Amino acid sequence: MKLWPNAELLVDKLHKPNGRLIPNYPLASSSWFRVGGMAEVMFFPEDVHDLAIFLQKLPKDISYCVLGNKSNILIRDYGIPGIVISLGKAFATIEVVDGNKILSGCSVLDKKLSSFALQNNIGGFSFYNSIPGSVGGAIKMNAGAFDKETKDFLIEVTLLDRSGIIYKVKSSLLDFKYRSSNIPKETICVSALYQGYCSQYDKIYDEMLSMKNLRNSSQPLREKTGGSTFKNTESKKAWELIELSGCRGLSVGGASVSKKHCNFIINNGNATACDIESLGKLIISKVESVTGIKLEWEIKCIGVGSKTET
Ligand SMILES: Cc1cc2nc3c(=O)[nH]c(=O)nc-3n(C[C@H](O)[C@H](O)[C@H](O)COP(=O)(O)OP(=O)(O)OC[C@H]3O[C@@H](n4cnc5c(N)ncnc54)[C@H](O)[C@@H]3O)c2cc1C
Repeated sequence: MKLWPNAELLVDKLHKPNGRLIPNYPLASSSWFRVGGMAEVMFFPEDVHDLAIFLQKLPKDISYCVLGNKSNILIRDYGIPGIVISLGKAFATIEVVDGNKILSGCSVLDKKLSSFALQNNIGGFSFYNSIPGSVGGAIKMNAGAFDKETKDFLIEVTLLDRSGIIYKVKSSLLDFKYRSSNIPKETICVSALYQGYCSQYDKIYDEMLSMKNLRNSSQPLREKTGGSTFKNTESKKAWELIELSGCRGLSVGGASVSKKHCNFIINNGNATACDIESLGKLIISKVESVTGIKLEWEIKCIGVGSKTET
């Protein structure tokens, strides 16, 4: 694995927070694709104030990004320059407020929020049970499944921007669209208030079970994958276009198109991020030449592929 040669020097330039700053932090093993290089410097803030002060004091020329459960990203092979922020335990609180509302920290996993809602007889969140991301990633991406989306239940989100300012924004102002929001790149979701509705344990449980069974039968969930690679288009689902263009089973190096669901790319064990991205680009060009439609990545490819790109 390649190291960032100036990572220690970068740490020296930073304000010393209460949380942990770690130079050359490997990311592949915790990402869903199991590929990619290191974060130049990883930051685990102790709490929201620690993070706010760190950002206030961060020199303007140093870049950063926040990652959630790494289920919708492809980290390129050289890794991510600058600071990578991971929200930990301080952002993992979850509670019921005012009857059927849920206030959740943004590092809480969607699955955990869904089980919490079940335990409290709050309906609306069964679809989160099968999405392997965190609340922060779900808001940024407007994650959805089974005709439900994050925007349908989100009341407001607490954000933190580069200048260290913490503020609340109503869901209606986030310009949610299919798998996107207008949350700026360097703005971090720290907590979220959701509206559920009164329901019953057995009803919610049955709903969750039927969603789980549907997913197990149609998606390669035990593989190293980033979920749906491309966004569905207005006229056709991405998988239909990929199938139509003869890409089912297509491969590049250790990456291949899933035979079970052809909008999923699989790391067969020895793929590099470059194999996965190259396969994605090959699919885009084949689909465009057969159908005239240009697929748009749903997965976010981040970082740099080689040292020369820095
Ligand atoms: C097997 C599988 C099945 C999937 N099924 C679905 C599905 O049915 N529906 C669906 O919508 N998605 C699905 N996905 C994709 C993915 O789980 C979702 O997009 C999820 O919301 C991403 O959350 P994450 O925490 O993993 O974010 P990451 O992958 O870590 O990051 C994704 C983006 O969100 C940003 N982000 C993460 N946390 C924060 C934060 N706190 N503040 C601001 N920005 C943040 C990151 O910077 C990045 O731009 C699937 C993925 C896999 C691997």
